[in-house]
Amino acid sequence: MSINTNPDALAHEGAVATIIPESEHPIREHQLDREALKVLYRLRDAGFKGYLVGGGVRDLYLGKEPKDFDVSTDARPGELRKLFRNSRTIGRRFRLVQVFFRGNKIIEVSTLRSQNENESDETDQVLAANNTFGSLEEDAFRRDLTINSLFYEVGERTVIDYVGGVDDLNRGVIRMVGDPDRRFTRDPVRMMRAVRHAARTGFIIEASTFEAIKRQGEKLLLCPPSRLRDEILKDLQSGMARPWAERCLDTDLWFTLFPFYSASFEGIDGEKTKSLLFRLLAELDTIFQGSHGETRIKMEEYFLFAVLLLPWVAQKFDILGNTPLRGLAFQKQLASLRKEIDRHFGVPFNVTRMAKERIATLIMNLSTLQHTKDAKGGHPKWLKKKSYYRDCNRLHNLLQLSLGEEVAALSPEEFIDVQENNDELEVLGLVHEGNSSTGKRGRGAPAFASTKHGVFGLRTG
Ligand code: ATP
Ligand code: MG
Repeated sequence: MSINTNPDALAHEGAVATIIPESEHPIREHQLDREALKVLYRLRDAGFKGYLVGGGVRDLYLGKEPKDFDVSTDARPGELRKLFRNSRTIGRRFRLVQVFFRGNKIIEVSTLRSQNENESDETDQVLAANNTFGSLEEDAFRRDLTINSLFYEVGERTVIDYVGGVDDLNRGVIRMVGDPDRRFTRDPVRMMRAVRHAARTGFIIEASTFEAIKRQGEKLLLCPPSRLRDEILKDLQSGMARPWAERCLDTDLWFTLFPFYSASFEGIDGEKTKSLLFRLLAELDTIFQGSHGETRIKMEEYFLFAVLLLPWVAQKFDILGNTPLRGLAFQKQLASLRKEIDRHFGVPFNVTRMAKERIATLIMNLSTLQHTKDAKGGHPKWLKKKSYYRDCNRLHNLLQLSLGEEVAALSPEEFIDVQENNDELEVLGLVHEGNSSTGKRGRGAPAFASTKHGVFGLRTG
């Protein structure tokens, strides 16, 4: 048996949980969704423990509607599969069981786990391939933020807190569980998660967590590009993208992720660029905040990235001030814009070739839309026929709103049915096989290191 030399583990050995009765917390059973409750009760009836965990508890405590309801249990994946006939096991590193319900509803059930390989100090130790089951206490200490480490126990209707998460929820504090430097080193994406939840809740990032983000920020660059890209996409469509950008700037994560923005934020023009970024993101937030539940919109990633990059590209290429270029000059500028986007954004975030092409096309054509609009804001027929028109017009409208110009507010419905229209790109010979942003991982960078010295989510060089 090996001695556990992990300081985090020692710090919580024998930790005592605070158990908050229903009379002292705001969560009521009827707020949980029906399917999550069914899963929890089935577990309980079979003699297992069932807990609502993570973001679901946090959001219910704050009176918000949770995005999803995750369940944890002491039942093992094999036992879960027997208990829920309509289920399947997923996950390479840690096996989760997905339970299926009518209407494409899925409840994810995970077995309580310990800090396992990711937190081990012994770097020459071969990483455990998959499951390391743990106690409730261990499961609480392997989570990221204190406010994300709470359990709601369905039978007793209690909230179980090992890490001071309830106090932090009450006081409005974002705090990492355990030693922040160490937790961020093990998985740098946790820094993005801290900033995300600070932005979404409006909470203050507690000093030692904040300072550790500043110290460890650069470690984000060790993460696989696709994982970073997916995290950024979550924030862009969270309805809290503007506060997210502000928190990223406060913690310096912004320039770690997007170093190309540092020159664009300098001087008087820099202030304008920053203000345009904030306004664009605020307009994006308005759209996402207007869509909920079943009708929640999904914006294409290239559109979201075009919004993120627009202030930088517009300043660098003077896209918005210039009269539109034509012919060869247009093609030349499009080519250099494409090159810049690829170098500074496409490569670091493993963005698909198709997405990069579309970002460039959208931004390049903005100025044409800007200069051809009539008094009522309409556009000529020839332009409306272009395959990029619909998308480009959305970006144009978003831009107009950001600049305080009068445009009818963008309704979420406009974004629901974003067409996959490749015609124009195909004509230009720009459609290449590309790699899927959700499927394959590009450049051979695994999301999870599987080698001897690997650390959760990090490339091993
Ligand atoms: P959201 O509302 O975006 O779903 P969430 O906190 O539920 O927020 P998830 O990505 O669904 O986020 O993760 C579920 C839970 O898993 C978190 O609440 C947290 O307890 C834990 N978790 C997620 N990512 C990490 C991580 N990188 N390190 C430690 N714990 C994590
Ligand atoms: Mg969640």
